[in-house]
Parts: sequence; C-alpha cells; structure tokens
Amino acid sequence: MLLSQIYYVTDQMDIAKADISIQNDTIAAIGCLCAAPGEEVIDGTGLLLLPGLCNTHCHVPMTLLRGQSDHLPLDQWLQSQIFPAENHLTKEAVYYGALLGIAEMLSCGVTSFDDMYYFSDAVCQAVVESGICANVAMDGFAFDPALQNRFSISLEELEDFYLRNHDRCPQRLTIDFCIHAEYTTTPERCVALIGLAKKYQARVQLHLAETASEVEGCLLRHQKTPVRYFESLGLFDLPVTAAHCVHLTDEDRSILAKNRVFVSHCPSSNCKLGSGIADLSALRQAGVLVTLGTDGASSNDSLNLLGDLRLSCLLQKALHQDPTVFTAKDALQMATSTGFHAQGRMDSGVIQVGKRADLFALRLTDENMAPANQLLQTAVYAANPKNVAFTMVHGQILYRDGAFLTIDVPTVQQKVTELAQQLF
Ligand SMILES: [Zn+2]
Repeated sequence: MLLSQIYYVTDQMDIAKADISIQNDTIAAIGCLCAAPGEEVIDGTGLLLLPGLCNTHCHVPMTLLRGQSDHLPLDQWLQSQIFPAENHLTKEAVYYGALLGIAEMLSCGVTSFDDMYYFSDAVCQAVVESGICANVAMDGFAFDPALQNRFSISLEELEDFYLRNHDRCPQRLTIDFCIHAEYTTTPERCVALIGLAKKYQARVQLHLAETASEVEGCLLRHQKTPVRYFESLGLFDLPVTAAHCVHLTDEDRSILAKNRVFVSHCPSSNCKLGSGIADLSALRQAGVLVTLGTDGASSNDSLNLLGDLRLSCLLQKALHQDPTVFTAKDALQMATSTGFHAQGRMDSGVIQVGKRADLFALRLTDENMAPANQLLQTAVYAANPKNVAFTMVHGQILYRDGAFLTIDVPTVQQKVTELAQQLF
C-alpha cells in the first residue's frame, strides 16, 4: 500500500510531507515513491498521518456499564454500583462488551490498549478477531471476605489463563499479570502474583495511588504509601504500568523513576470520580515515564483517547497556571511512543522506516480542523473522532470512513444493550 503525498508526524514530532509505503505490517519506505503495479494507493491529500494511539489503562468490557453512575467517589462507586453489577457478568457479556469498546477505540485512532478485567479469555478472543493489539491481564481477587466469592480466581487459574493465551497471537496479543490494587489484594496474594509474573518475565498492570483515601488506608494497614508498599514487595523488579498515581510524595516519584515504572495518566476518570489531578509536571521532572489511558467506560464514560489527549494538556496548564508546562507535543509523545514502550512494543509508536504500520489519519478538510496550519496543535486540541479517516494496525486498515472492517458493530451494539440490562 502507498500513502501518497501525505502530511505525517515525524519521529522528532515535527510535520513533514512524503509518500509512505507499507509492506505487510511494516513501514517500508518514506520519501518520493512510485506505486508498484497492483499496489493500493491512498491519496494523502488533506490527511495528517499519526502514529497509532496507545491506551495504557482500560477495562474494555465495561462499555456494558457505561453511564450507570454519577456523583460517587471511587470506593462507593465500586461497592454500590460496579461490584454488584459485575456479579452478573458472563463470558458472553464480556466478549460483546470488549468488541464494542475495541470498535470505539479504533474509531478514535487507538491501535493498542492495556486491559485488566474478568473472563479475559473473551477479551483475548475479541482482540484476536478484531485485529487490534492489546496487553491483556486477568483480574480476580478481593480481600474483603464479602467479595471473595465473586472473582476468587486461583493462582493456578491465572497461570492457566496465561499459558492458554500467551502464544495465541504473539504479534498482537501480550498477556500481562495484574494486581487490581493494594486495597483489594492481600499481601500474600500480591507476593504470589509477583512470583508468577517473574516466572514468566511478564509485565504487571495495577491501580496505584488513585485517591487520597487509598493512600490513607494503605498507611494505616502497612505504615507505607502504596508506592513504598509495592516497592517493599519487590513489584518494581518487574516491568510495571501503574494507573493513576494522583496522590504521590516526592519519595514516591523518585521510587517510580528509579524503577522505570510507567504511569498511566487517566485524566477523565480522575475528574469524574473526583479523585484529583495527577501532577504530570512533577512526575516528568522526577524522571517518571508517563503514558495515557481512558480507564473503563464506566468512569470516563468514553474510550475516546483523543479526548483524554486534549484534557491532559488543559488540566496541566490550569493546575500550574502556566500554559507552557505541558504541550501538544508532550501529550502526543505520552499517548504514542511512551505508551507502546510501556507495553513492551518497542517497534511501534513512531512513523519511521522499519517500524510497525500502526497508524491513523485525521481529515484536515473537516470544518473543525480549518485552517489546518499548525497541524500538531490542531490534532491535539481540535480533533475529535469524527475526523478520523482510517485506523491501521500492523498494516491492516480496520476502520475507514465510519466503517468497521472486522467488527459487526450493529449486532455487537444490540447484544451489549440486551446484556447490559441483565447486569442491573
Ligand atoms: Zn481502572
């Protein structure tokens, strides 16, 4: 495939214009190129090509729970709304919920995501069928005895899940382990999960320092902040993506930096649950690697990562009363190359010869993009999903001009509507 005369975001986050050749799943050449006989040509006029976006924190089947709650802080939201509804989850519901969420992400330019949820074989199935990339972890333990019957998944089951799926589609599907959070997981269980992840040299996803009350509770239980607690358990010997990190001390930030822990910043979710605003400036100054996530569709209530890209910039400027503190370039880097690094996908996240063709294009000719002369800023501050012309994963176009090429969205949407009613 040849993308002819297309504006694109370079590896230095500048804008250039060239012909870009895609061979199989790879960016094969960038320059002044001619189409080979029989090669598909996409006219790049009026388009801006970007590296695909990486959503580093999601619970994709939670599209089933979209719109179900408002005005509740995290602990009450989980206990009174989310956990009771999730008691009625089925594998079928998770499968259709995941497909719907994947469709939404593809329509926003997302080509890879991190996921932690239940019935995760069904999430893997949806990833394999849809053509997207993902790091999928299976969740499943709570220390409140009243909750243990729900998802008390044994370590053996988690290991089996890993073994069943880790080589199912190795180019696109990576299996991670997950610790839901300090407040839902016993220390013994954390240690066992860390041991399991070390055995397979796998990555770990977790929720970390999301709310002030989580930190207070952890200090009472362990006399340590959540970051120091997990460091003491040896978690950070592993590659880790920690979602939220809103409430940190200076010492916490140096521990995260020293151990190269990737933080997944989830601004919409933190705003909706009233959790606070993560200080990206302090994180970056400490040397912490920051990526971008939506969180689940019940605390956001959207999987539109373009929206979080914009919000992340605006929040930092407002928080610091300084418009220079976090720029469109910073945000795009966070949502692309740093995100893919967090997933262990070092071959994605930039438009460069030899890298994976994980890409999306924005239509510059739409009215909300005019006059389209500062393209990077326009992409971050003005673009919304209706401007996405196509999304390509490993050289395959999965979404183009409003059409999903691998997901039967009307059927999936109907199923999710029916199944969601059964959860409540
Ligand atoms: Zn989450």
